[in-house]
Amino acid sequence: MSLIGLPTDSNSSFFRGPAEAPPFIRKALFSEAANMCTETGVDLGVDGLLFDAGDLDVDVDVDGQDDPWGVVEEAVGLLLERNLPPIVLGGDHAISYPVVRAFHRKFARLDILHFDAHPDLYHDFDSNPNSHASPFARIMENGLARRLVQVGIRTATGHQREQAERFGVEMIEMRQLQGSPQIEFEGDVYVSVDIDGLDPSFAPGVSHPEPGGLSTRQVLDTIQTFQGNLVGADIVEVNPRKDVNNITSIVAAKILKEIAGRIISGRYA
Ligand code: MN
Ligand code: MN
Repeated sequence: MSLIGLPTDSNSSFFRGPAEAPPFIRKALFSEAANMCTETGVDLGVDGLLFDAGDLDVDVDVDGQDDPWGVVEEAVGLLLERNLPPIVLGGDHAISYPVVRAFHRKFARLDILHFDAHPDLYHDFDSNPNSHASPFARIMENGLARRLVQVGIRTATGHQREQAERFGVEMIEMRQLQGSPQIEFEGDVYVSVDIDGLDPSFAPGVSHPEPGGLSTRQVLDTIQTFQGNLVGADIVEVNPRKDVNNITSIVAAKILKEIAGRIISGRYA
């Protein structure tokens, strides 16, 4: 499997900073402060298991462009063709739309498990259809996912609830959640982790901190226990400019490890 960084935050609506995240997450992942074993016993340090494709030059100016995302779709598609399923490091959440386009080309029956404080279903935010507040509107209106299950939501507006209804989105809101959710998918699953789905006490380095969120443990439990075939993921919205002692990058690296371990054990079991 593989890692690829997409250092772009030009579609963020408030602060910049997520474009700087990939090297911080890699540094936390490969830090000698921890070993490379997952909790489930997969050693990611084994030679050849984890191919690092580096960072893509993707800081495209979206103004006036209908679709600035071809370069992302192509790079992720190439890794999939080479049988190196990627975990994509953001960047802001805007990148999930072109990444999922590439996954959908390979996996026609794709479901999405999405951790976030925000539904990211705005039809149009600040007149930017590529906004980081809109990727799942684009994904659903283009039929790229059969099911979209959102976990950790605590900011849904009336408009976003209408959008969720329109697209049949399954929203597991924070106020309804006790423990970790039990989620069953039938086929291939893409996981999108917006790190602000976690509570700011666990992950303070984000552009839109929203109290009342998921614990690190709830996210890990959900990733380890959902039913379905995990085929790839993104981890987005880490903002190193807002972080405290790099803890948010360390949390992102921990989540990355458990996702990677599950992809690898599913492929080589
Ligand atoms: Mn969010
Ligand atoms: Mn998001």
